Amino acid sequence: MNTKFDPSNAIQDFLVFGEFGDVNPSITDSSTFTFLSPERMEELFEHEIEGCFLYSRHWNPTNKFLSDALARMEGSEAAQAKASGMAAISSAIIQICGNGDEIISSRTVYGGTYALFKNFLPRFGIKVHFVDVQNIDAVSELINERTKVVYCESISNPLLDVSDIPALSGLCRSRGVKLVVDNTFSPMMLSPIRLGADVVVHSLTKYINGTSDCVAGAVCASSDFIHQLTDINSGASMLFGAVLDSTRAASILKNLHSLHLRMRQHSQNGMFIAENLQKLGLRVYYPGLPDHPQHKLLTEMMNEGYGYGGMLAVDVGDSARANQLMTRMQEEKVGYLAVSLGYFKTLFSAPGHSTSSEIPEDERKAMGLSDGLVRFSVGLDNDIGLSFERIKLCLSESGVI
Ligand SMILES: *Cc1c(COP(=O)(O)O)cnc(C)c1O
Repeated sequence: MNTKFDPSNAIQDFLVFGEFGDVNPSITDSSTFTFLSPERMEELFEHEIEGCFLYSRHWNPTNKFLSDALARMEGSEAAQAKASGMAAISSAIIQICGNGDEIISSRTVYGGTYALFKNFLPRFGIKVHFVDVQNIDAVSELINERTKVVYCESISNPLLDVSDIPALSGLCRSRGVKLVVDNTFSPMMLSPIRLGADVVVHSLTKYINGTSDCVAGAVCASSDFIHQLTDINSGASMLFGAVLDSTRAASILKNLHSLHLRMRQHSQNGMFIAENLQKLGLRVYYPGLPDHPQHKLLTEMMNEGYGYGGMLAVDVGDSARANQLMTRMQEEKVGYLAVSLGYFKTLFSAPGHSTSSEIPEDERKAMGLSDGLVRFSVGLDNDIGLSFERIKLCLSESGVI
């Protein structure tokens, strides 16, 4: 279906030199830009001019380099780097939806997204329906003339459900609704735009940057949509102003060039831990396992060579065991008890009482999010066998096995 596109090749030839032929592009250290004539400035207020910059909240060269590289990676016409993943999500959504409009959202989305949809958007007259997006008929039934967006994560947090992007996009196209996909868990692995999504949002904070040293995000979409976002008089990016600092854009662009290697290693390690945890008889959620409900779907949709990702979850029964396990794993240097993901070290947390605590308990139960669930972002460990032995020891000492 999508095997020929290689997101890594797509950015391989993205060469931008600095002022002195520097192998990395020079970093824009300016909020504003000079013009040789007032007429030229007037012109830029009327329409964007390629390679011409006005003010850094609008665009600056360094953010543009990162944005262009991300567009190539996603196979979208254009992209815009943002100050955070939530800035990317909120600006894309608010650009499309206004008072009286409706959104149909997957019920398993990132906690911040859930809180935005559930608590915040209703203040602006935007109604959000939460649904199990695996059930395409249920999504279809909820679409009406007020629906503007269907929203999902390509691989969902924290239960690792995989969305059927071609099916959802077919439905959205036929009903005139935009499909917005959060691809944070699966950069390079999945290319939702190529599978029919209209807008892809990313938290660059996670895998794409990969060093847990900053917060950033991006919107990837058609040139037309990115123009709308950055319109001086009506763009959500321009007017809400969550612009990424150019020094950060520069460091993220450098890290992006090793993303393909990191994704491969995260996936290899993720698969190893998932298989071995399953062999211990534990309930493991990992889309690389053949018994995962969307294993086949993901295999059909994904780009070749990047594996099934580094995110997995394991149910250890109850929150007391989960807490003991995580405490012991940190002591044994398996990794860190921390939220977030995509770091070079393994990170683990119990989503029920942290990153998904925005979701009410009854809804967490309905979606199978147990209090004993421990989510892992598996790191780049060279000796993953040793790491698994440590995990096994901690599981045993916490009474899980
Ligand atoms: C972290 C995360 C976000 C939010 O990104 P920030 O960079 O923290 O604003 C959105 N979606 C997913 C899936 C995430 O993991």
